[in-house]
Amino acid sequence: MTQTPLSKLNQLCNALAIDPQDSGVCENEFPFKAPPDFINRIQPGQLDDPLLKQVLPVVEEAVIHSDFNRDPVGDLQANPSPSLIHKYHGRVLLMASPKCDIHCRYCFRRHFPYEQQINQRHWKKALQQISADNTIHEVILSGGDPFSLSETAVLGLIKEIERIEHIKTLRIHSRTPIVAPSKAPCGELLKWAQTSRLNKVLVLHCNHANELSQLTAELLQTYRQAGFHLLNQSVLLKGINDDSETLITLSHTLFAQGVLPYYLHQLDRVEGAAHFEVPNQEALALRQTLLEKLPGYLVPKLVKENAGEPHKTPL
Ligand SMILES: *Cc1c(COP(=O)(O)O)cnc(C)c1O
Ligand code: SF4
Repeated sequence: MTQTPLSKLNQLCNALAIDPQDSGVCENEFPFKAPPDFINRIQPGQLDDPLLKQVLPVVEEAVIHSDFNRDPVGDLQANPSPSLIHKYHGRVLLMASPKCDIHCRYCFRRHFPYEQQINQRHWKKALQQISADNTIHEVILSGGDPFSLSETAVLGLIKEIERIEHIKTLRIHSRTPIVAPSKAPCGELLKWAQTSRLNKVLVLHCNHANELSQLTAELLQTYRQAGFHLLNQSVLLKGINDDSETLITLSHTLFAQGVLPYYLHQLDRVEGAAHFEVPNQEALALRQTLLEKLPGYLVPKLVKENAGEPHKTPL
């Protein structure tokens, strides 16, 4: 199967035997997109499939809620230069790509003006700013998804970062190895990683154990062998992973593939995603069950990002 993401809703409906008429399907300004590897993990005909719900645009997205807005985490206020976000001590986030291989319906950046933010000229300026500030030890490549770039482009950027002496850690935030393992970078990048002086951290984004497969297991093992520490962040999503059994299975399955749970994010209140929100009381009850049922190292930190705060805040 080709690895070009599907971007036509009728392709998805056909592939999965879904009738667009009776399923609440509804296109909007944030277009549908999902890669074949991800679609292959969805049960055909099953409208409540936890993977399908993450990518299927539905009518609920058009409902306006006054507490949900277009920049819920204040990214546009913490933007010292295009493509750079500096909110937390010692680390900066560099937006490496305007694109993702998948469009997650709950994404907090679904309205972010990426295209104006990210290009090679902006990187150059961002790298100069990082070079000039030796309080920064860690650069986080984010996006969009940095692995939606070509391997050559990501590696070029990484080598620029490696040249800055005060940078000790390279962190990559990517969902690509989970949702599109057959197109994730695994050649030159891993060769570079084996000999680089930098600490290397890859923070994946997986919300449900069904997203993990033999393909992800093999890929993630190669990242580990090349020296990456593997962590995972998930978003708590109503009707997708908001029960303790699902979250427990997710932690165990991640660990079986060499990944430690890092964060479980309470949903950012972005316009169009209100139907995914799990009330705080329920979220806290879930955390309590995870604490009782899992070893401490498999319990993700339940956090909320509050605009203006200097760290992610425990719920
Ligand atoms: C989440 C985030 C980070 C990383 O925070 P950690 O707690 O170190 O994982 C860094 N910068 C920004 C802007 C972020 O949103
Ligand atoms: S991969 Fe991440 S940034 Fe991209 S749409 Fe999904 S949640 Fe948003």
